[in-house]
Amino acid sequence: MKKDKTLSAQETEKQFEFMDKVRKYNREGMRAYIETFGCQQNEADSERLAGMAEYMGYTVTDDPSDADLIVVNTCAVREHAELKALSVTGQFKHIKQNKSGLIIAMCGCMVSQEHRSQSIKNSYPYVDFVFDTRSLHTFPERLYERLVTGKRSFDISGSQEGVIAEGLPVRRASDFKAWLSVMYGCNNFCTYCIVPYVRGRERSRRRENILEEARQLAASGYREITLLGQNVNSYGNDLYDDYDFADLLADICRTDGDFTVRFMTSHPKDATRKLIDTMAENAKIAKQFHLPLQSGSDRILGLMNRKYNRDRYLDLVGYMRLKIPDITITTDIIVGFPGETEEDFEMTLDMLSRVQYDNIFSFIYSKRKGTPAEKMASQVPDDVKKERFERLIELQNGISRRKNEEYIGKTIRVLVEGRSKTDDSKLTGRNEKNRLVHFEGEDSLIGGYADVTVESVQPHALFGRLV
Ligand code: SF4
Repeated sequence: MKKDKTLSAQETEKQFEFMDKVRKYNREGMRAYIETFGCQQNEADSERLAGMAEYMGYTVTDDPSDADLIVVNTCAVREHAELKALSVTGQFKHIKQNKSGLIIAMCGCMVSQEHRSQSIKNSYPYVDFVFDTRSLHTFPERLYERLVTGKRSFDISGSQEGVIAEGLPVRRASDFKAWLSVMYGCNNFCTYCIVPYVRGRERSRRRENILEEARQLAASGYREITLLGQNVNSYGNDLYDDYDFADLLADICRTDGDFTVRFMTSHPKDATRKLIDTMAENAKIAKQFHLPLQSGSDRILGLMNRKYNRDRYLDLVGYMRLKIPDITITTDIIVGFPGETEEDFEMTLDMLSRVQYDNIFSFIYSKRKGTPAEKMASQVPDDVKKERFERLIELQNGISRRKNEEYIGKTIRVLVEGRSKTDDSKLTGRNEKNRLVHFEGEDSLIGGYADVTVESVQPHALFGRLV
């Protein structure tokens, strides 16, 4: 085994001692509120924070005005996400004015940037402490220090390498869908992305720890397990000579239980035919592949430091469709990366037409401080970015709608997730291919499977009737 970044048992034990100390220090009946911004990795991190808070004696509440401890888990992927987190934190100031004992902490990608941590220290005096993504496990220690000494702390000098903390308590937000982190950090340094600077280098969890967590989830009746990592395709590179992500997936599929496995996110430079073969061979793996393209222009892909080209990407898509003809393929697209010309953008539209994605997640390029792209000349004007973005969406909406229309009249099995966010009279579920389906039904169906006949469609959803 290569260099293992797992924290020693003594280090983890130390945090459990701090959790015990906080519990003894606090009076009974304390409440904690956790506000989460950003991606699934942040949601998974917040489940650990909630687990630690519960272990420390806090009851997790969804009402910040009721809380004795507020944690804001921030995102840095776009400026908009940062501004939103700061604005929400600003609103918590008013709660603190009426509740002097309230502790407000911030963590996540935004505060893991030195300039943000310092500006919060100086301009948000009601924030008590911050801790970065690489030292999430030190939350109990930071909280205890704040409770006992009253000192604010803004040290985000966690090692760039980062560590892995196993065995921390977790409070999962769902009892039928679970996140399972297989690795943390990223080594890729795409020129637009802040992740490698705030989440440290790639580090894989030991396979036995992942397999044990998967076994526990399946035994507890979880129906869907989503494996998380910034670049799951390089799982194991830092740890094993002869064990990769495809091997891990195959091992997880050997776990007993009626569950589906998904994974995100894949990098086209590291995705392998072996992985696609493993998907084709294992019924438990959802036949869905999210493969971020970002741009259809080889020139822009070079500027982005993505290390693949159109041909490599199309080769992967071709192999997926050969081995799994009905696979769902989705992607991420960035519109308006510095230097993107009309011709480059048309190459992206061309890729949409060629690949026929089921769905895309598109973003207007947003400058991130400290990344190489921030300093690139030829930033694209906002009105051009917006106009391109609208053309991209229009093209994809037509493709998505046509693909959804193929479902009309068919009966599909969905995992029922809850009430529809836009129409409370309907339930929402997803099929194995991650299609969102709305239909009328009882709450008792939530968390289980249901068969639904599709009657009508929109670009982003299907509508049907319970069988
Ligand atoms: S692969 Fe690129 S885009 Fe994805 S997290 Fe790493 S640096 Fe960011």
